[in-house]
Amino acid sequence: MEEGINNIKERIKKAAMECGRKPEDVTLVAVSKTISAGKIKEAFDCGCNIFGENYIQEAGKKIKELVGIPISWHFIGHLQSNKAKYAVKFFDLIHSVDSIKLAKALNKEAAKVNKVQNVLIQINISGEVAKSGAEAGEAESIIKEISGLENLSIRGLMTMPPFFDNPEKAAPCFNGLYRLSRGIEKLDIKNISMKHLSMGMTGDFETAIKCGATLVRIGTAIFGARNV
Ligand SMILES: *Cc1c(COP(=O)(O)O)cnc(C)c1O
Repeated sequence: MEEGINNIKERIKKAAMECGRKPEDVTLVAVSKTISAGKIKEAFDCGCNIFGENYIQEAGKKIKELVGIPISWHFIGHLQSNKAKYAVKFFDLIHSVDSIKLAKALNKEAAKVNKVQNVLIQINISGEVAKSGAEAGEAESIIKEISGLENLSIRGLMTMPPFFDNPEKAAPCFNGLYRLSRGIEKLDIKNISMKHLSMGMTGDFETAIKCGATLVRIGTAIFGARNV
């Protein structure tokens, strides 16, 4: 596993430098859905300290097993409002806020435990019907409304493009998210930041970095193919 992780870190660095960005401005989120706590610990020992999970129940179990290890947990899956309490309890950053309803549920739970919950707004940049995420055209109004929720802090945007066999084909989606974030930044909405762009996975993270990704979510290239 160590070799795989070192290799990914090298590729991240190289992709950043090739487009004139600083390697330290791109952060690796190791996606550990379906991966055991033991393997996560192994990856931690090889230098990963941020892990992304998709399912609350599965994540909760592993997080409890790994308590005491200084891991930062990110939630990257589709989140239902009725799981907001657990999302707030376990995760430092939730990448997948895509509605006012979910934001309000998270805000309420965060207020109860006196936490300011960091979130990203997930955008369905390709507009595909089957994809989750808010529509790009709604982003401004959603973000304006969420910015007023005192216990949430918007840190940027996330997207997941459709699957392409050629990663270059995802570039228009990544560029679209970048442009959207710059446009929102110009609106000077109080209490929000557009620092982060969560985009890029095993198959297309180098393209995403060239389009401005600050968080890349990589599972397969670290842990191998998932058998589900
Ligand atoms: C599973 C998953 C990833 C990681 O995908 P790989 O192709 O294994 O790198 C990234 N982001 C999200 C939202 C995922 O669900």
